[in-house]
Amino acid sequence: MADIMQTYQALCDHAREAAMVESIRAVLGWDEQTYMPPQAGDYRAEQITWLAAASHRRRTDPRVGEWLAACEDSELVEDSHGDSATVIRELKRDYQKRSKLPQSLVEEMARATVLGQQAWVQARKDDDFASFSPVLTQIIDLKRQQAEAVGYEESPYDALLDDYEPGETTANVHRVLSSLREDLVPLVAAIAESSTQPEVEILSRSYPVALQKQLGEQVSAQIGFDFQRGRLDVTHHPFCSGMGPFDCRITTRYDEHFFPMAFFGILHESGHGIYDQGLRTDFYGLPPGEFISLGIHESQSRMWENQVGRGRAFWQYMFPTLQETFASALTDVTLDQFYFALNEVRPSLIRVEADEVTYNLHIIIRFELEQALIQGDLQVPDLPAAWREKYREFLGIEPPSDADGVLQDIHWGAGLIGYFPTYSLGNLYSAQFFAQATEDLGDLEDMFSRGEFMPLKHWLQEKIHQPGKCYRASELVERITGQPLSHEPLLAYLRAKLEPLYGIG
Ligand code: ZN
Repeated sequence: MADIMQTYQALCDHAREAAMVESIRAVLGWDEQTYMPPQAGDYRAEQITWLAAASHRRRTDPRVGEWLAACEDSELVEDSHGDSATVIRELKRDYQKRSKLPQSLVEEMARATVLGQQAWVQARKDDDFASFSPVLTQIIDLKRQQAEAVGYEESPYDALLDDYEPGETTANVHRVLSSLREDLVPLVAAIAESSTQPEVEILSRSYPVALQKQLGEQVSAQIGFDFQRGRLDVTHHPFCSGMGPFDCRITTRYDEHFFPMAFFGILHESGHGIYDQGLRTDFYGLPPGEFISLGIHESQSRMWENQVGRGRAFWQYMFPTLQETFASALTDVTLDQFYFALNEVRPSLIRVEADEVTYNLHIIIRFELEQALIQGDLQVPDLPAAWREKYREFLGIEPPSDADGVLQDIHWGAGLIGYFPTYSLGNLYSAQFFAQATEDLGDLEDMFSRGEFMPLKHWLQEKIHQPGKCYRASELVERITGQPLSHEPLLAYLRAKLEPLYGIG
């Protein structure tokens, strides 16, 4: 027993050091996006590549395999969801996955995705898919090789999805998203046909940036983001990055003439940050102190952004402050007008600007197309036509250009394939968790209307943040809600909100 404890300790120390290298990389990455001077880019890329290689070497060190082999049948794994069993299970999973990838494939992928992102930037600027097509073809080919190397049960896409949503299957995601789509398409159509529509012009009046910033920080702190352990800065592409047990950075961007962008962006990233800050600090760098999956991470950001932030109760509380802060923009606006404007649903071309209903249709389109690419049912040169067809079918609109169509997202050029569905999984988990929180805590709306957000934050912390990776996402949702992942809570939430607003249903 003494021996096995020493071995386990060595395994943990080694993993914590790898996590430390990765956290240093995260600091440099954050700096690159925020304050780094323009000419520092090339050397920064070298620094980051060096650190990436160092952490990869550490995580594939053969000693890790030996330590794991010694631990995996010991009493440390007896309680399968306990801390030590979770450390061993998750480090083994990571070690095996990484070790199956040939070094040459890792290097080729790194090169192809750097080139892919550069080619994407240029192709989008020039609206020239043909120039991006060969690079993307190579990336798809490498991703298929990756799936073959790692292995899968049913579909090669399973192996890629597993990088972002561990243990999730293509078949299950397909089941839930297809049901969601079947119900969303008629809802979007009914909303479009309604004669009651919001006055969205309200949102593009003048909202001075300095005041937006002040209000955003205040609200972020109020819902529970801890500024003693975090910061909010400005970047072109907003993100949240944890870089230590007591250091979480979130970012946003401001537009004086579009209020929702920064406000909901801050709520969204604060939701990610509250999850990060809710993880167990004593397990930093080990699986019990890590987030479960991107889908669960996104559920936390979406809940604060949508279920809370786009709800009427929240604005009952916030609107008087808002009206005071932006007096010239809002003197003639009522709470109901403002609330309706924030919840406009309208099919649009660009995913990141989509409302919370049509957003999921943007995701389902990408999920179906990338699956077809990986399975070989669709060839890259045929992608723009397939894209336009899906947009006609699902959203009733067609992009006038590839720049506003198939070229709008960086993901594929960056090799992030299997990533898109985690956005919709986040929306689904968020609605399912929120329904359960309402059942457990009582009238949340009533609390929000008085500015009380801590009961929800503490519920999330206890149920979702503290368990870290001790459960898979599918296990956690069943454990908390008693049900497997379903599209119904999200649909019920959207209908309950939108049908009265649009006078339909
Ligand atoms: Zn997010």
